[in-house]
Amino acid sequence: MSEEKFYFQSEAAELLKMMISSVYSNRDIFLRELISNASDALDKRRIECLKDSELAENTKPEILITSDSEKKILSVSDNGIGMSRDDLIAYLGTIAKSGTKEFLKAAKNENHENELIGQFGVGFYSVFMAADKVEVLTRKLGSSETYKFISDGDGSYTIEDAEQRSECGTTVTLYLRHNDSNEEEFKDYSNEWVIREIIEKYSDFISWPVVFKDKVINSQKAIWQRPDSEIKEEEYNEFYKHLTHDWRDPLTHIKINAEGATNFKGLLFIPSEAPYDMFMNPEAGGISLYINRVFIMNDCKELIPEYLRFVRGVIDSEDLPLNISREILQDEPVTRVIRKSTQRKILVELKKLLSSDREKYIKFWSSFGRILKEGIIRDSEYAKNILEIALFRTTNNDDWTTLAEYESRMKPDQEGIYCLTGSDNLSALKASPKLEAFTEKNLEVLLMTDTVDSWILAQAGFILPEGSKKLLNIASDEVSPYSDDEKKENENKLKALDSEFETLKKKALEILGDKLENVKPSLTLTNSPACIRDSSGGMSVQIEYTLRAMGQNPPAQKRILELNANHPVIKKLLEMSKNNDEKVYDILRLLYDQSMILEGVAPDDPADFVKRIDDLMTLALVK
Ligand code: ADP
Repeated sequence: MSEEKFYFQSEAAELLKMMISSVYSNRDIFLRELISNASDALDKRRIECLKDSELAENTKPEILITSDSEKKILSVSDNGIGMSRDDLIAYLGTIAKSGTKEFLKAAKNENHENELIGQFGVGFYSVFMAADKVEVLTRKLGSSETYKFISDGDGSYTIEDAEQRSECGTTVTLYLRHNDSNEEEFKDYSNEWVIREIIEKYSDFISWPVVFKDKVINSQKAIWQRPDSEIKEEEYNEFYKHLTHDWRDPLTHIKINAEGATNFKGLLFIPSEAPYDMFMNPEAGGISLYINRVFIMNDCKELIPEYLRFVRGVIDSEDLPLNISREILQDEPVTRVIRKSTQRKILVELKKLLSSDREKYIKFWSSFGRILKEGIIRDSEYAKNILEIALFRTTNNDDWTTLAEYESRMKPDQEGIYCLTGSDNLSALKASPKLEAFTEKNLEVLLMTDTVDSWILAQAGFILPEGSKKLLNIASDEVSPYSDDEKKENENKLKALDSEFETLKKKALEILGDKLENVKPSLTLTNSPACIRDSSGGMSVQIEYTLRAMGQNPPAQKRILELNANHPVIKKLLEMSKNNDEKVYDILRLLYDQSMILEGVAPDDPADFVKRIDDLMTLALVK
């Protein structure tokens, strides 16, 4: 086999076309991408050689840049890990990461092609912003085979056998585009000064030497080792992009300088938005571990609790052995110390951000709040700290609120913080019948739309520090907006209704007895005919159904169906049940199903539900 031709998937080809015609304002970054890849390849080679000393080659690791301004050629060469033929196909032949199609569609619809490039981080393919043809010559560490990958970004590429490269590694050669569009911004990337400027700007901190015209042109200084005062925001941003392959600036950075029994430095970042695969792919975050400035491993889960998995960055310690493995790292006491102080520092910095720049904090919270909140139920030690900086939606207005802010608005005799969990759709939650009595009494309720909120509410009793206000779930039968006197008055009125509801209740339990523990008249609903309540001590609807969605099998919970005694439908039902009208059963079933829908749960038997609605429509419109 000498040469074989391959085609990119259709969406990848489309992406390429977009890169080529891109007017992406910052075309320079293709060089940063190539140098970043070369640096990663050298890191990988170092680690492979540590594992197997026979692999070590006798060459000094470096990234070599060459250019020819006559022929308009630029190349980036490394003696890193290199790629096999399969690697070339898997890594360079496949740009379409999961979700590409959807992204392309969205970008096209909204004319946001540049943003897409920014979001998506098309890495290697950014070369097509500057070149119309790319050749990659590569030989994998430990192999004698060299391959040449060629593509002109037109939707296909070829791979052929090539003359053996003298050592392992990769050379990427760019045949640069000519400025045929007369774009003012278009730079000559084979020009020495253009190259120097870009490397200085974007790649100065790369820990391997970047050699150009026989000289090392980067300082190689680890950015986290330098004093904060010396570093410009821009340098942090560039380092973040190198580290994460995100093309956007981070939201903020956090520096840690721990000295004492355990010494370590950290430079952590909070991305500006969740990466597109954050929720699909929990691996997407990660901390890279360095020991004495030497890269050891990325995505080091041992150094950070899972609920902070959106944090990216570097931790560099002198107190761990260079040959450490993931397994050993787990049991290292030093790891625990680092983890703890890192987590503490992140929470402290987030708290500062909340008070110093609320707008930025809200941006952070909108992207990562639901991940951070997992910590409230998983980490009893820090639950209180996380609750303190948690933001919630409320019935008060459309802004976010903290618990402390809510407390400051509480009525003087209010016994706790009213909360309602439910469907992950805020406007659906706002329509919940359970809010009616509270709205009428002008009482503010927190609207909790995340799955984890139900757990927080269920465990609030154990999580909240002593003396703090209770979180009261208004879905519970026991939480009411009324004063003791009002409750008494209500009870008396309800008692009087008991005998009237007797038959209806019996009929409801006849058909819904497996789902309902009780059926009660209610005087607190204003507009809705019915609602579902959790029986006291029972599991909330959201928890029960999330557990089911997770494949678990919690005991089926019996709930309470409340019927609005003042509602015309219920009044009619009472009459019908006394007359033994069989239609009562259908309406009761509908009321139950519709109440569950408002809890975010679809009817058990949708076909049956739809049929009942059809019957009602026929009755209302036709007969
Ligand atoms: P990313 O670097 O974000 O994963 P790229 O498109 O830049 O995306 O690169 C894809 C993959 O190709 C890399 O993850 C790496 O496995 C491989 N690769 C790219 N450049 C090199 C190189 N110089 N040496 C070895 N492997 C490389």
